[in-house]
Amino acid sequence: MKVIKIGGGSLKGKGAIQDILALIAERGPGHPIVISALSGITDMLIDGMTEALRNDAAIPSIIRRLKNKHILVARHIIPKGKFYQKYTRDLNDHLDQLERLYYGLNFTKEITPKIADVVSSFGERLSADLLASALRSIGLQATYRMPHKIGLITDGKFGDATANLQITARNLQKNLLPLLKKGMIVFVPGFFGVSERGDITTFGRGGSDYSAAVVAAAMDAEILEVWKDVPGYMSADPKFIPEAQLIPFLSYDEAAELSYFGAKILHPRTIEPLRKRKMKLNIAVKDTTNPDAPGSLITFRSPKARSLIKSVAHDTDIAILKIHGSGVGARPGVLARVSSTLTESGINIKSVVTSQTCISLLLAGKDIDKGYHALKGLRPRPYRRLEKVQDVALVGIVGEGLLRRKGIAGRCFTAVAKRSVNIEMISFGPSEVALYFLVRNKNLQKALEAIHSTFFSILPSQETVS
Ligand code: ASP
Ligand code: MG
Repeated sequence: MKVIKIGGGSLKGKGAIQDILALIAERGPGHPIVISALSGITDMLIDGMTEALRNDAAIPSIIRRLKNKHILVARHIIPKGKFYQKYTRDLNDHLDQLERLYYGLNFTKEITPKIADVVSSFGERLSADLLASALRSIGLQATYRMPHKIGLITDGKFGDATANLQITARNLQKNLLPLLKKGMIVFVPGFFGVSERGDITTFGRGGSDYSAAVVAAAMDAEILEVWKDVPGYMSADPKFIPEAQLIPFLSYDEAAELSYFGAKILHPRTIEPLRKRKMKLNIAVKDTTNPDAPGSLITFRSPKARSLIKSVAHDTDIAILKIHGSGVGARPGVLARVSSTLTESGINIKSVVTSQTCISLLLAGKDIDKGYHALKGLRPRPYRRLEKVQDVALVGIVGEGLLRRKGIAGRCFTAVAKRSVNIEMISFGPSEVALYFLVRNKNLQKALEAIHSTFFSILPSQETVS
């Protein structure tokens, strides 16, 4: 069996959705299909909560916008008639529930994690119903099963849940197999599950990839096909390096590293449920606009590649919070206090690099000011000085065996130095398959070209042309 995941980026525009339906009709019968919300809907649901909290008069227009988005697509993909009517009835029911939730949070003047998860899960419910209705209207046997009805069980952590694979496997096999055996097309909304107490819990933004991996592991599938609007993993971002090549094979670890930054093709947690099944479950990243192209295949271990590294990726949404003070790096209590303060402020620490006199925390760009102020407020101060460094980009080179093979780091830094790019900070060692460093934003292009041309033996395009 295979499990198919369809991302929200592909569910954009009536024409594209129609094309995806044709693909599902051809390749989907007998396989569970985990689906995202239509593009932009989850954002609308979440932003709607803040609007609704502030002003209940805004609620009808939030609901209207959501309705219009879905109706616009529904009109195009479901012919007028009983299937269309049924869909719009379901849509109205869902939106009525949602409207009540929005009024509820306005009334209580509070967006609890529990209500936030219920509200944000609506996008996937609406899209699964929409696509199943469209396929039924052309005579196919299609349906959907809500995660909370089929027992996709989580640990109950709102906004960042983890699935209980054992119980979920039992439940999903029982509830989905009979339908799949009949050759039906069965959609499962991604992004959320349900706790044993019955609470809707989401897997975090972008979490429908993780859902798909959970369903694949639970159903004992051989392959998880992730359908996206990109060709697959690339050796670099083609916007920066036009010669970037498709990476045909990656290992779990390589894909996991590349998920944290750079192309972010899969949600970082997608690999987690697969590790338990090791070699048996592979992920194929497929391009919905070019479905017969090979894409990228992610396997437990990847075959030996020609190039030493697989990809040079980057992330510009990065900032450093530097904590200066004598001995900070050696005093474990400091790091604990700092990180618990940041966690309490809802800030995720992407990485930590310490020396004796400085702890450098890598944060997302949007978190830096909040993080700075949270630490400023600490009493007694566990540091001498705090510093924000914003104008930086993270560059990572990723490849199995990177750490074991001699000279790769040397070649990387020599290549970058030759282009007169200064390296601000290096992290090498925490991951077996990746080496990270930071450069100033203005040097990013040069750094990427230097590395890509060194390891992929292609000259930087700009220099050969001009
Ligand atoms: N719709 C959810 C989000 O936008 C989950 C997903 O698409 O993976 O975060
Ligand atoms: Mg999405």
